[in-house]
Amino acid sequence: MIKKFDIPKNEAAENEDEFAFVERLVGTGESDEDREVEAGLRPQNLDEYIGQEKAKENLKIYIEAAKLRGESLDHVLLYGPPGLGKTTLAGIIANEMGVNIRVTSGPAIEKQGDLAAMLTNLAEGDVLFIDEIHRLSRNIEEILYPAMEDYALDWIVGKGPAARSIRIPLPRFTLIGATTRAGQLTTPLRDRFGVLLKLELYNTDELATIVGRSAGILGIDITSDGMREIARRSRGTPRVANRLLKRVRDFAQVKGDGRIDKDIADRALRMLEIDELGLDNTDRRMLEAIVKLYDGGPVGLETLAATIGEEAVTIEDVYEPYLMQIGFLSRTPRGRCVTRPACEHLGLSFKRRTPSRADEDQLSLDVFAEDEDK
Ligand code: ADP
Repeated sequence: MIKKFDIPKNEAAENEDEFAFVERLVGTGESDEDREVEAGLRPQNLDEYIGQEKAKENLKIYIEAAKLRGESLDHVLLYGPPGLGKTTLAGIIANEMGVNIRVTSGPAIEKQGDLAAMLTNLAEGDVLFIDEIHRLSRNIEEILYPAMEDYALDWIVGKGPAARSIRIPLPRFTLIGATTRAGQLTTPLRDRFGVLLKLELYNTDELATIVGRSAGILGIDITSDGMREIARRSRGTPRVANRLLKRVRDFAQVKGDGRIDKDIADRALRMLEIDELGLDNTDRRMLEAIVKLYDGGPVGLETLAATIGEEAVTIEDVYEPYLMQIGFLSRTPRGRCVTRPACEHLGLSFKRRTPSRADEDQLSLDVFAEDEDK
């Protein structure tokens, strides 16, 4: 039988620096309000988990095989932008395996002892979920190597010449690591995961299904074109979809009869300054900055971050995945470039840079009076 799980609160989310972007309605980071509502909206098993068919298909096989052998599941690394369902999937894996889950995160583990205590408290088969695993410090990460490989903890007792290492056996547990950037993981850590699963941005149909499911749970009256309208503007991200659903519900209750249809969704989202593609002011500001100040690019990530006053990691993890997915931004070896469709969307003029200035096929833009007037 599958038991209902509730993902415990993640201490790392308390860190202000990291969640500076939660203010954004379409930001993919988790706010306090999200945490409250998300607990009730999280799918509990693989069949309820919408989309990510490839990852799900693989997982089903691994889970089934591990159960048949009566073993714990191999260590799993989940990677992809925030809000796509990594934490949810970790909970589902524990649920499907019928084991407990302990949740922590890279930045929350400050000392080797913290991690050692967590590992020794696990029961056979349990899941240890480490969110943002790329942010574990190196000396703490080293504890994980023998733990993952040999299910053992190598602990140093004593100091100086008298110091010696003792090996403490651990239960056979499953480590599930989540990261927004698999590339930042050290090779020894990455190599110790048997299963690597990449989560992709969701398409409109999948997001519409997620919106419909959440509306059902929250008792919200919504039409199917209302679901689609919210889905289209959710940046491929379930967390954003759920958040927009709640905001649109507020609007529907105050300005309508509580029912969400396409028109109400459109009016609500327009009032929130989320355009028909799900871009908000911050996206527009960033794209415009590239066009106006850097001729459409290429501009280096750090320079861009300084220009718009954002952290480079926030741009990479939160803004870029969606802008690249819809073809508005491209990454080149020399920096970020804005594309023609992005300029058309923003009402800016676009032109290719002259070949003498271009290496390869670098694109550039010219901004003329028309957008200055805006
Ligand atoms: P991440 O850990 O990747 O940041 P979460 O697992 O916290 O993302 O997911 C954010 C929210 O989105 C959760 O509340 C969950 O309800 C919803 N969600 C994510 N993926 C799915 C999915 N595949 N189907 C339904 N809801 C989902």
